[in-house]
Amino acid sequence: MNIVGAEGGLRVAVIGGGFSGLIFSLKLLEAGVDVTLFEEHSIVGYPPHCTGLVSSRVLGFIGAPAFKSTVSRFDGITLSNASSHVTFRVRGGLFKLERVKLERLMLEEALSKGLKAVMGVIVRRVSPRGVVDYGDSSVFDSIIVADGYHGSIHRSLGIGYFNPPVYGVNVEYDMVTGSRRVTVVFDSSISRGFFSWLVEMDHGVLAGLGARNPKLLARSLRALEERFGLRDRRSAYGGPVITGPPAETLSIGRVHVVGDAGGLNKPLTGGGLYPNSLAASLAKRMILEGVDVNTALSKSLNTVSSMLRKQYKLAKAVLEGGVIERILDLLAGEEVGEAVGSVDYDHHEEIPSLAVKRAFWKTVKIGVKTLVKNPALIPRIALAILP
Ligand SMILES: Cc1cc2nc3c(=O)[nH]c(=O)nc-3n(C[C@H](O)[C@H](O)[C@H](O)COP(=O)(O)OP(=O)(O)OC[C@H]3O[C@@H](n4cnc5c(N)ncnc54)[C@H](O)[C@@H]3O)c2cc1C
Repeated sequence: MNIVGAEGGLRVAVIGGGFSGLIFSLKLLEAGVDVTLFEEHSIVGYPPHCTGLVSSRVLGFIGAPAFKSTVSRFDGITLSNASSHVTFRVRGGLFKLERVKLERLMLEEALSKGLKAVMGVIVRRVSPRGVVDYGDSSVFDSIIVADGYHGSIHRSLGIGYFNPPVYGVNVEYDMVTGSRRVTVVFDSSISRGFFSWLVEMDHGVLAGLGARNPKLLARSLRALEERFGLRDRRSAYGGPVITGPPAETLSIGRVHVVGDAGGLNKPLTGGGLYPNSLAASLAKRMILEGVDVNTALSKSLNTVSSMLRKQYKLAKAVLEGGVIERILDLLAGEEVGEAVGSVDYDHHEEIPSLAVKRAFWKTVKIGVKTLVKNPALIPRIALAILP
């Protein structure tokens, strides 16, 4: 066993050294808590799965490791279906992080702040009274379970996220398109019930998609490659994408479930970096204000979980009802290239609602033009709509 780090203070165990375990470790260390991280692998960041797209707000939450692992910046995001596309500015910009590097730098920073890291060790079980069994056993004041969607620890406790995930795959290509943009494609002939994405950067292209049925991934990927002329695959990776709603119960006794294990993800895209950075930062603030660690953790998780629950209804309509595909059809023929409005990348519900507004005004414009050309229609329409 390999244990590194400092001694002293209120003791919190974090199970899992993925993004969520690392961000909670960092924020708790910054609040003066003594943190011990248990990770089954001997390194963090592997196997990679994530696209790594985040807002400037998330960069701010994570701090130096995020700035140092940023590989591209984008001003906007383009939504597309089979026939049309529309571009929105993203307030503060959109950033592509190198995810494996991010987690390595987060671990280094946490170690420099006094983290004890128990690497290459599988935690067998934890108890709501604070016991962590990892071959040896130790008692902690709080336990943060960040063991990911498949993790056996939250599952054995019977709390956390259990809904089936979307299966996501990312492929890196050596080709350079000469553009720098992020396109999200809502086209059910490529990705039914979810969407696909294309991240064009100065040094290469990253493309990916999600599917509820993993058997469809290979065929869908070929369709995406054909549509965008993608070639020269370099590497492929993926994993479960969690689309909510977040788990009903996230805390039991001294144990708190976070990250993909708790369904703390943006419901439209499955993005986990924003909700967990936010929850960890809220917990840090409360602890610094004097709130005890268990209360701070359960309150911050409840706050973020309620926010995600509100986003869930809209996300479900957009993803499952094919709403966005139809809205984009309505927008067909719009001016392309120019951004039509600005959106908050962490509150995705703004994006489809802006598209709806845009489609509404386009319909009104067409209606007015028709009436100007055919004034004889006015009395007929008036008769039809008057009571
Ligand atoms: C294809 C794809 C694209 C994505 N794109 C984005 C994106 O652009 N932006 C975004 O914000 N999010 C994105 N996400 C989501 C994001 O990647 C996840 O929400 C996030 O990585 C989850 O981190 P986690 O720490 O909760 O879980 P994980 O990364 O699964 O980490 C769990 C960790 O716990 C360890 N562990 C498990 N059990 C034990 C045990 N018993 N003992 C010790 N260690 C244990 C595992 O080894 C692992 O290191 C994407 C996800 C996918 C699949």
